[in-house]
Amino acid sequence: MRWRNLRRSRNIEDRRGRSAGRGGPVRMPGGRGMKIGGGGALLLLLASVFLGTDLTGLVGGGGGGIGTGISTQAPQRTGTSQLPANDDIGQFVSTIMATTEDVWTPLFQQAGKRYQPPKLVLFSDGVRSACGFTSSAAGPFYCPGDNQAYIDLDFFAELQRMGAGGDFAGAYVLAHEVGHHIQNLLGVSMEVQRRQRQLPKVEANALSVRTELQADCYAGVWAHHAHKRFQLLEPGDLEEGMNAAAKIGDDALMKNAGRRVRPESFTHGSSKQRQAWLLRGLQSGDPNQCDTFNVNS
Ligand SMILES: [Zn+2]
Repeated sequence: MRWRNLRRSRNIEDRRGRSAGRGGPVRMPGGRGMKIGGGGALLLLLASVFLGTDLTGLVGGGGGGIGTGISTQAPQRTGTSQLPANDDIGQFVSTIMATTEDVWTPLFQQAGKRYQPPKLVLFSDGVRSACGFTSSAAGPFYCPGDNQAYIDLDFFAELQRMGAGGDFAGAYVLAHEVGHHIQNLLGVSMEVQRRQRQLPKVEANALSVRTELQADCYAGVWAHHAHKRFQLLEPGDLEEGMNAAAKIGDDALMKNAGRRVRPESFTHGSSKQRQAWLLRGLQSGDPNQCDTFNVNS
């Protein structure tokens, strides 16, 4: 990817190296009617599905580089820097976020709407949000309650360990989270959560899959326009994205974990589905092509 000379977003909050703390009251967004409470992995999993927590259970933590010339070294806070996250990987994510702003603002304008960009919060180990406390182990996520995306940048190293490395793979993850923000702005997230509360688990999961695949498609739409405008993609980037989409498909994750593949428990879609929707957005550049809710599976 050619990203180094592009502008960087200011909508980044760098909380790396700060303790999130599990103690104290968990702040919940008002009027959502959802609670995180009680115990048990199932409940946590359900909560994470409802609250838009992403890529559940993908991560085992760790460090290292992304393998693309982006270093995941600890951030350097120079005090003189005007921008947060001034280290290499911080520059990478803030640049990618800026391209999502530059792509989605005109797309919303064309639809007669105003785009309000999300903030991206960088954290380490765990983070407190309007969605409660989330450990890095849950992977990057978007919280509709506070319009913010959250990522522990060690996740990029985790992607690499899963065979899904590369800068475009990392950018796809960010663009996917921004995709959830688009859904939030368009009222999709709220409607999905409302319907999920009334559905048995298998059908709620199916709805979650459609939501996630739409976010993948929106990530593709971003890539289409970001390339058109900034010549962002280089040879091999598309393959990197398609490879990452395959590696984080639910069937691939289940197989790698030594578990039986159970489509009824999918929450993000199969490798094939994730690739297909990412590609559909990428080729068309048209958000209207991302209506995953009105197609047969
Ligand atoms: Zn997602």
